[in-house]
Amino acid sequence: MIKVEHISKQFKKVKAVDDVSLEVKKGEIVCLIGPSGSGKSTVLRCIHGLEVPETGYVYLNGEALDPKKSNYQELRNKMGFVFQHFNLFPHMTVLENLTLSLTKVRHMDEEKANEIACNYLTRVGLLDKKDEYPNKLSGGQKQRVAIARSLCTNPEIMLFDEPTSALDPEMVIEVLEVMQQLAKEGMTMIVVTHEMGFAKTVADRVIFLENGKIVEENDAKAFYENPKTERAQDFLKKVM
Ligand code: ADP
Ligand code: MG
Repeated sequence: MIKVEHISKQFKKVKAVDDVSLEVKKGEIVCLIGPSGSGKSTVLRCIHGLEVPETGYVYLNGEALDPKKSNYQELRNKMGFVFQHFNLFPHMTVLENLTLSLTKVRHMDEEKANEIACNYLTRVGLLDKKDEYPNKLSGGQKQRVAIARSLCTNPEIMLFDEPTSALDPEMVIEVLEVMQQLAKEGMTMIVVTHEMGFAKTVADRVIFLENGKIVEENDAKAFYENPKTERAQDFLKKVM
């Protein structure tokens, strides 16, 4: 479903992503892990088109994600992105946050948009919060709303950038449970995370990055039980 071919991205002197290639198959859950500054977010942002790599290409279902092509937005719209800091619109209710892109970008009528939004709010257990403003919600609730918002546009793949790292520990679980449920339903997912328990139990594959490069890639079980590289061994010692 996703094919990343030799992408690189430089910010001034920093090579944030240095010749990264990877593939994600339909229904696969892939976790990107690695130390802070290793390029995880930049890889994810390049996949979603939030950053455009200087070299290389990202393909979605075999079609190159190219800002110069007319299908660029259409391809981007097939991907959902969940941010560390939720990025909800503070001046809109929960329901309005969910329906915005349905009514404005997809020109759906309001009734239909509300129906879809309420359906996804129910799935993340927050239908009763539909008329609240985001500042009335806990961090965990905000992130569940953000996930529901992403799902409203019916993405083929969900990209998560450290969805639980801004949360108090007691709220991490409720968000991971929603993600785990999505995985169970067959959603294709790329997850940047420090939650090693999640990566170990939910991921099919783990990709370990350092200094913008893929250092090690393996199925999740093998990676955690028997990391091949010294760098991955050191990293796991620190975080497990
Ligand atoms: P990670 O998500 O693994 O912590 P990032 O992809 O955010 O890593 O960053 C990789 C490197 O690129 C870091 O050195 C970071 O400081 C740098 N970087 C990321 N985004 C920008 C940006 N917008 N401007 C300048 N430097 C950036
Ligand atoms: Mg990051």
